[in-house]
Amino acid sequence: APLPTRAPRAPAPAISFEFFPPKTEALETQLWSCIRRLEALAPQFVSVTYGAGGSTQERTHATVTRLVRETSLTPAAHLTCVGASRGEVDDVARRYWDAGVRHIVALRGDPPSKAPYQPHPQGYEYAADLVSGLKRVADFDISVAAYPETHAQAENPQADLDNLKRKLDAGASRAISQVFFETGNFLDFLDRALAAGITAPIIPGIMPVSNFAQAKRISEMGGTYVPGWMAEMFDGLDDDAETRQMVAAAIAAEQVRTLQANGIDEFHFYTLNRADLTYAIARILGVKAKEASASFFEKKETKKL
Ligand code: FAD
Repeated sequence: APLPTRAPRAPAPAISFEFFPPKTEALETQLWSCIRRLEALAPQFVSVTYGAGGSTQERTHATVTRLVRETSLTPAAHLTCVGASRGEVDDVARRYWDAGVRHIVALRGDPPSKAPYQPHPQGYEYAADLVSGLKRVADFDISVAAYPETHAQAENPQADLDNLKRKLDAGASRAISQVFFETGNFLDFLDRALAAGITAPIIPGIMPVSNFAQAKRISEMGGTYVPGWMAEMFDGLDDDAETRQMVAAAIAAEQVRTLQANGIDEFHFYTLNRADLTYAIARILGVKAKEASASFFEKKETKKL
């Protein structure tokens, strides 16, 4: 079907970004240059993922608290139920609250191995339980995960939607969707969510993909359908990074504009800690860098001279 024409003055949507905590100094430098570039777009919030081990969890905490201390951004800390008692999870949440963090992305998480998920004997069992627990700790602003193509372990699509409703009823304010590439699947999901009585915002999770092989692996692990047309577009480009970047921008641009033409006015970007594609796609959506960013680029230019 042809792409619907975009209204000439569609208001710029709200945007947010996801980062992951860096494992090495080089990755940390890459992340912070990405954060500085995207900060200029004045996102609603930026979220930082949470791993399964102690050291990666500390890195999440370090990144989130540095965002509070050193940037104008509103950080959202991901937090999971996996491998910890309710008391331990509550303590992490309390540390965030004390550091000034008010937004948590509450998730069940996955076990570090491929073994089936087993809740900790004294832990929160599902994300809905975590949401209730967090609300008892403090009045956090809470986001939860939604699955347009249904979570892999759900009994069926309706049971998964019922679960999403439970998470929102427990006190979450919005859902952020798992990545998807078949835009129609997300729009169908929104219709089904509305029919299930869900009225909270469900923000589409957009992953601009230029490393197709890597994205296919991550996506399929998370149960995301990778359409044949997408594989076809990247076919034979393994050694041609420049063209892959252009193809990636075109695919994501078409996706966000189709969503925008269907009335979506909020987008969450899986940045993979890289700014370029996300920055370009935000521009296509009509989001421009704020004043501060001009000085950021001026500074950069001056340095070059
Ligand atoms: P839940 O909402 O608890 O659902 C898990 C499964 O259990 C679903 O299949 C659901 O239908 C089913 N279920 C729920 N309640 C019941 C019940 N009472 N009885 C029977 N079945 C039930 N993972 C990380 O480790 N770290 C991260 O930082 C992270 N960030 C993410 C961000 C987003 C936006 C998304 C979409 C996912 C993220 N994940 C992250 C992955 C997530 O942890 C996994 O997808 C996990 O398998 C499910 O988490 P959930 O919060 O959706 O779980």
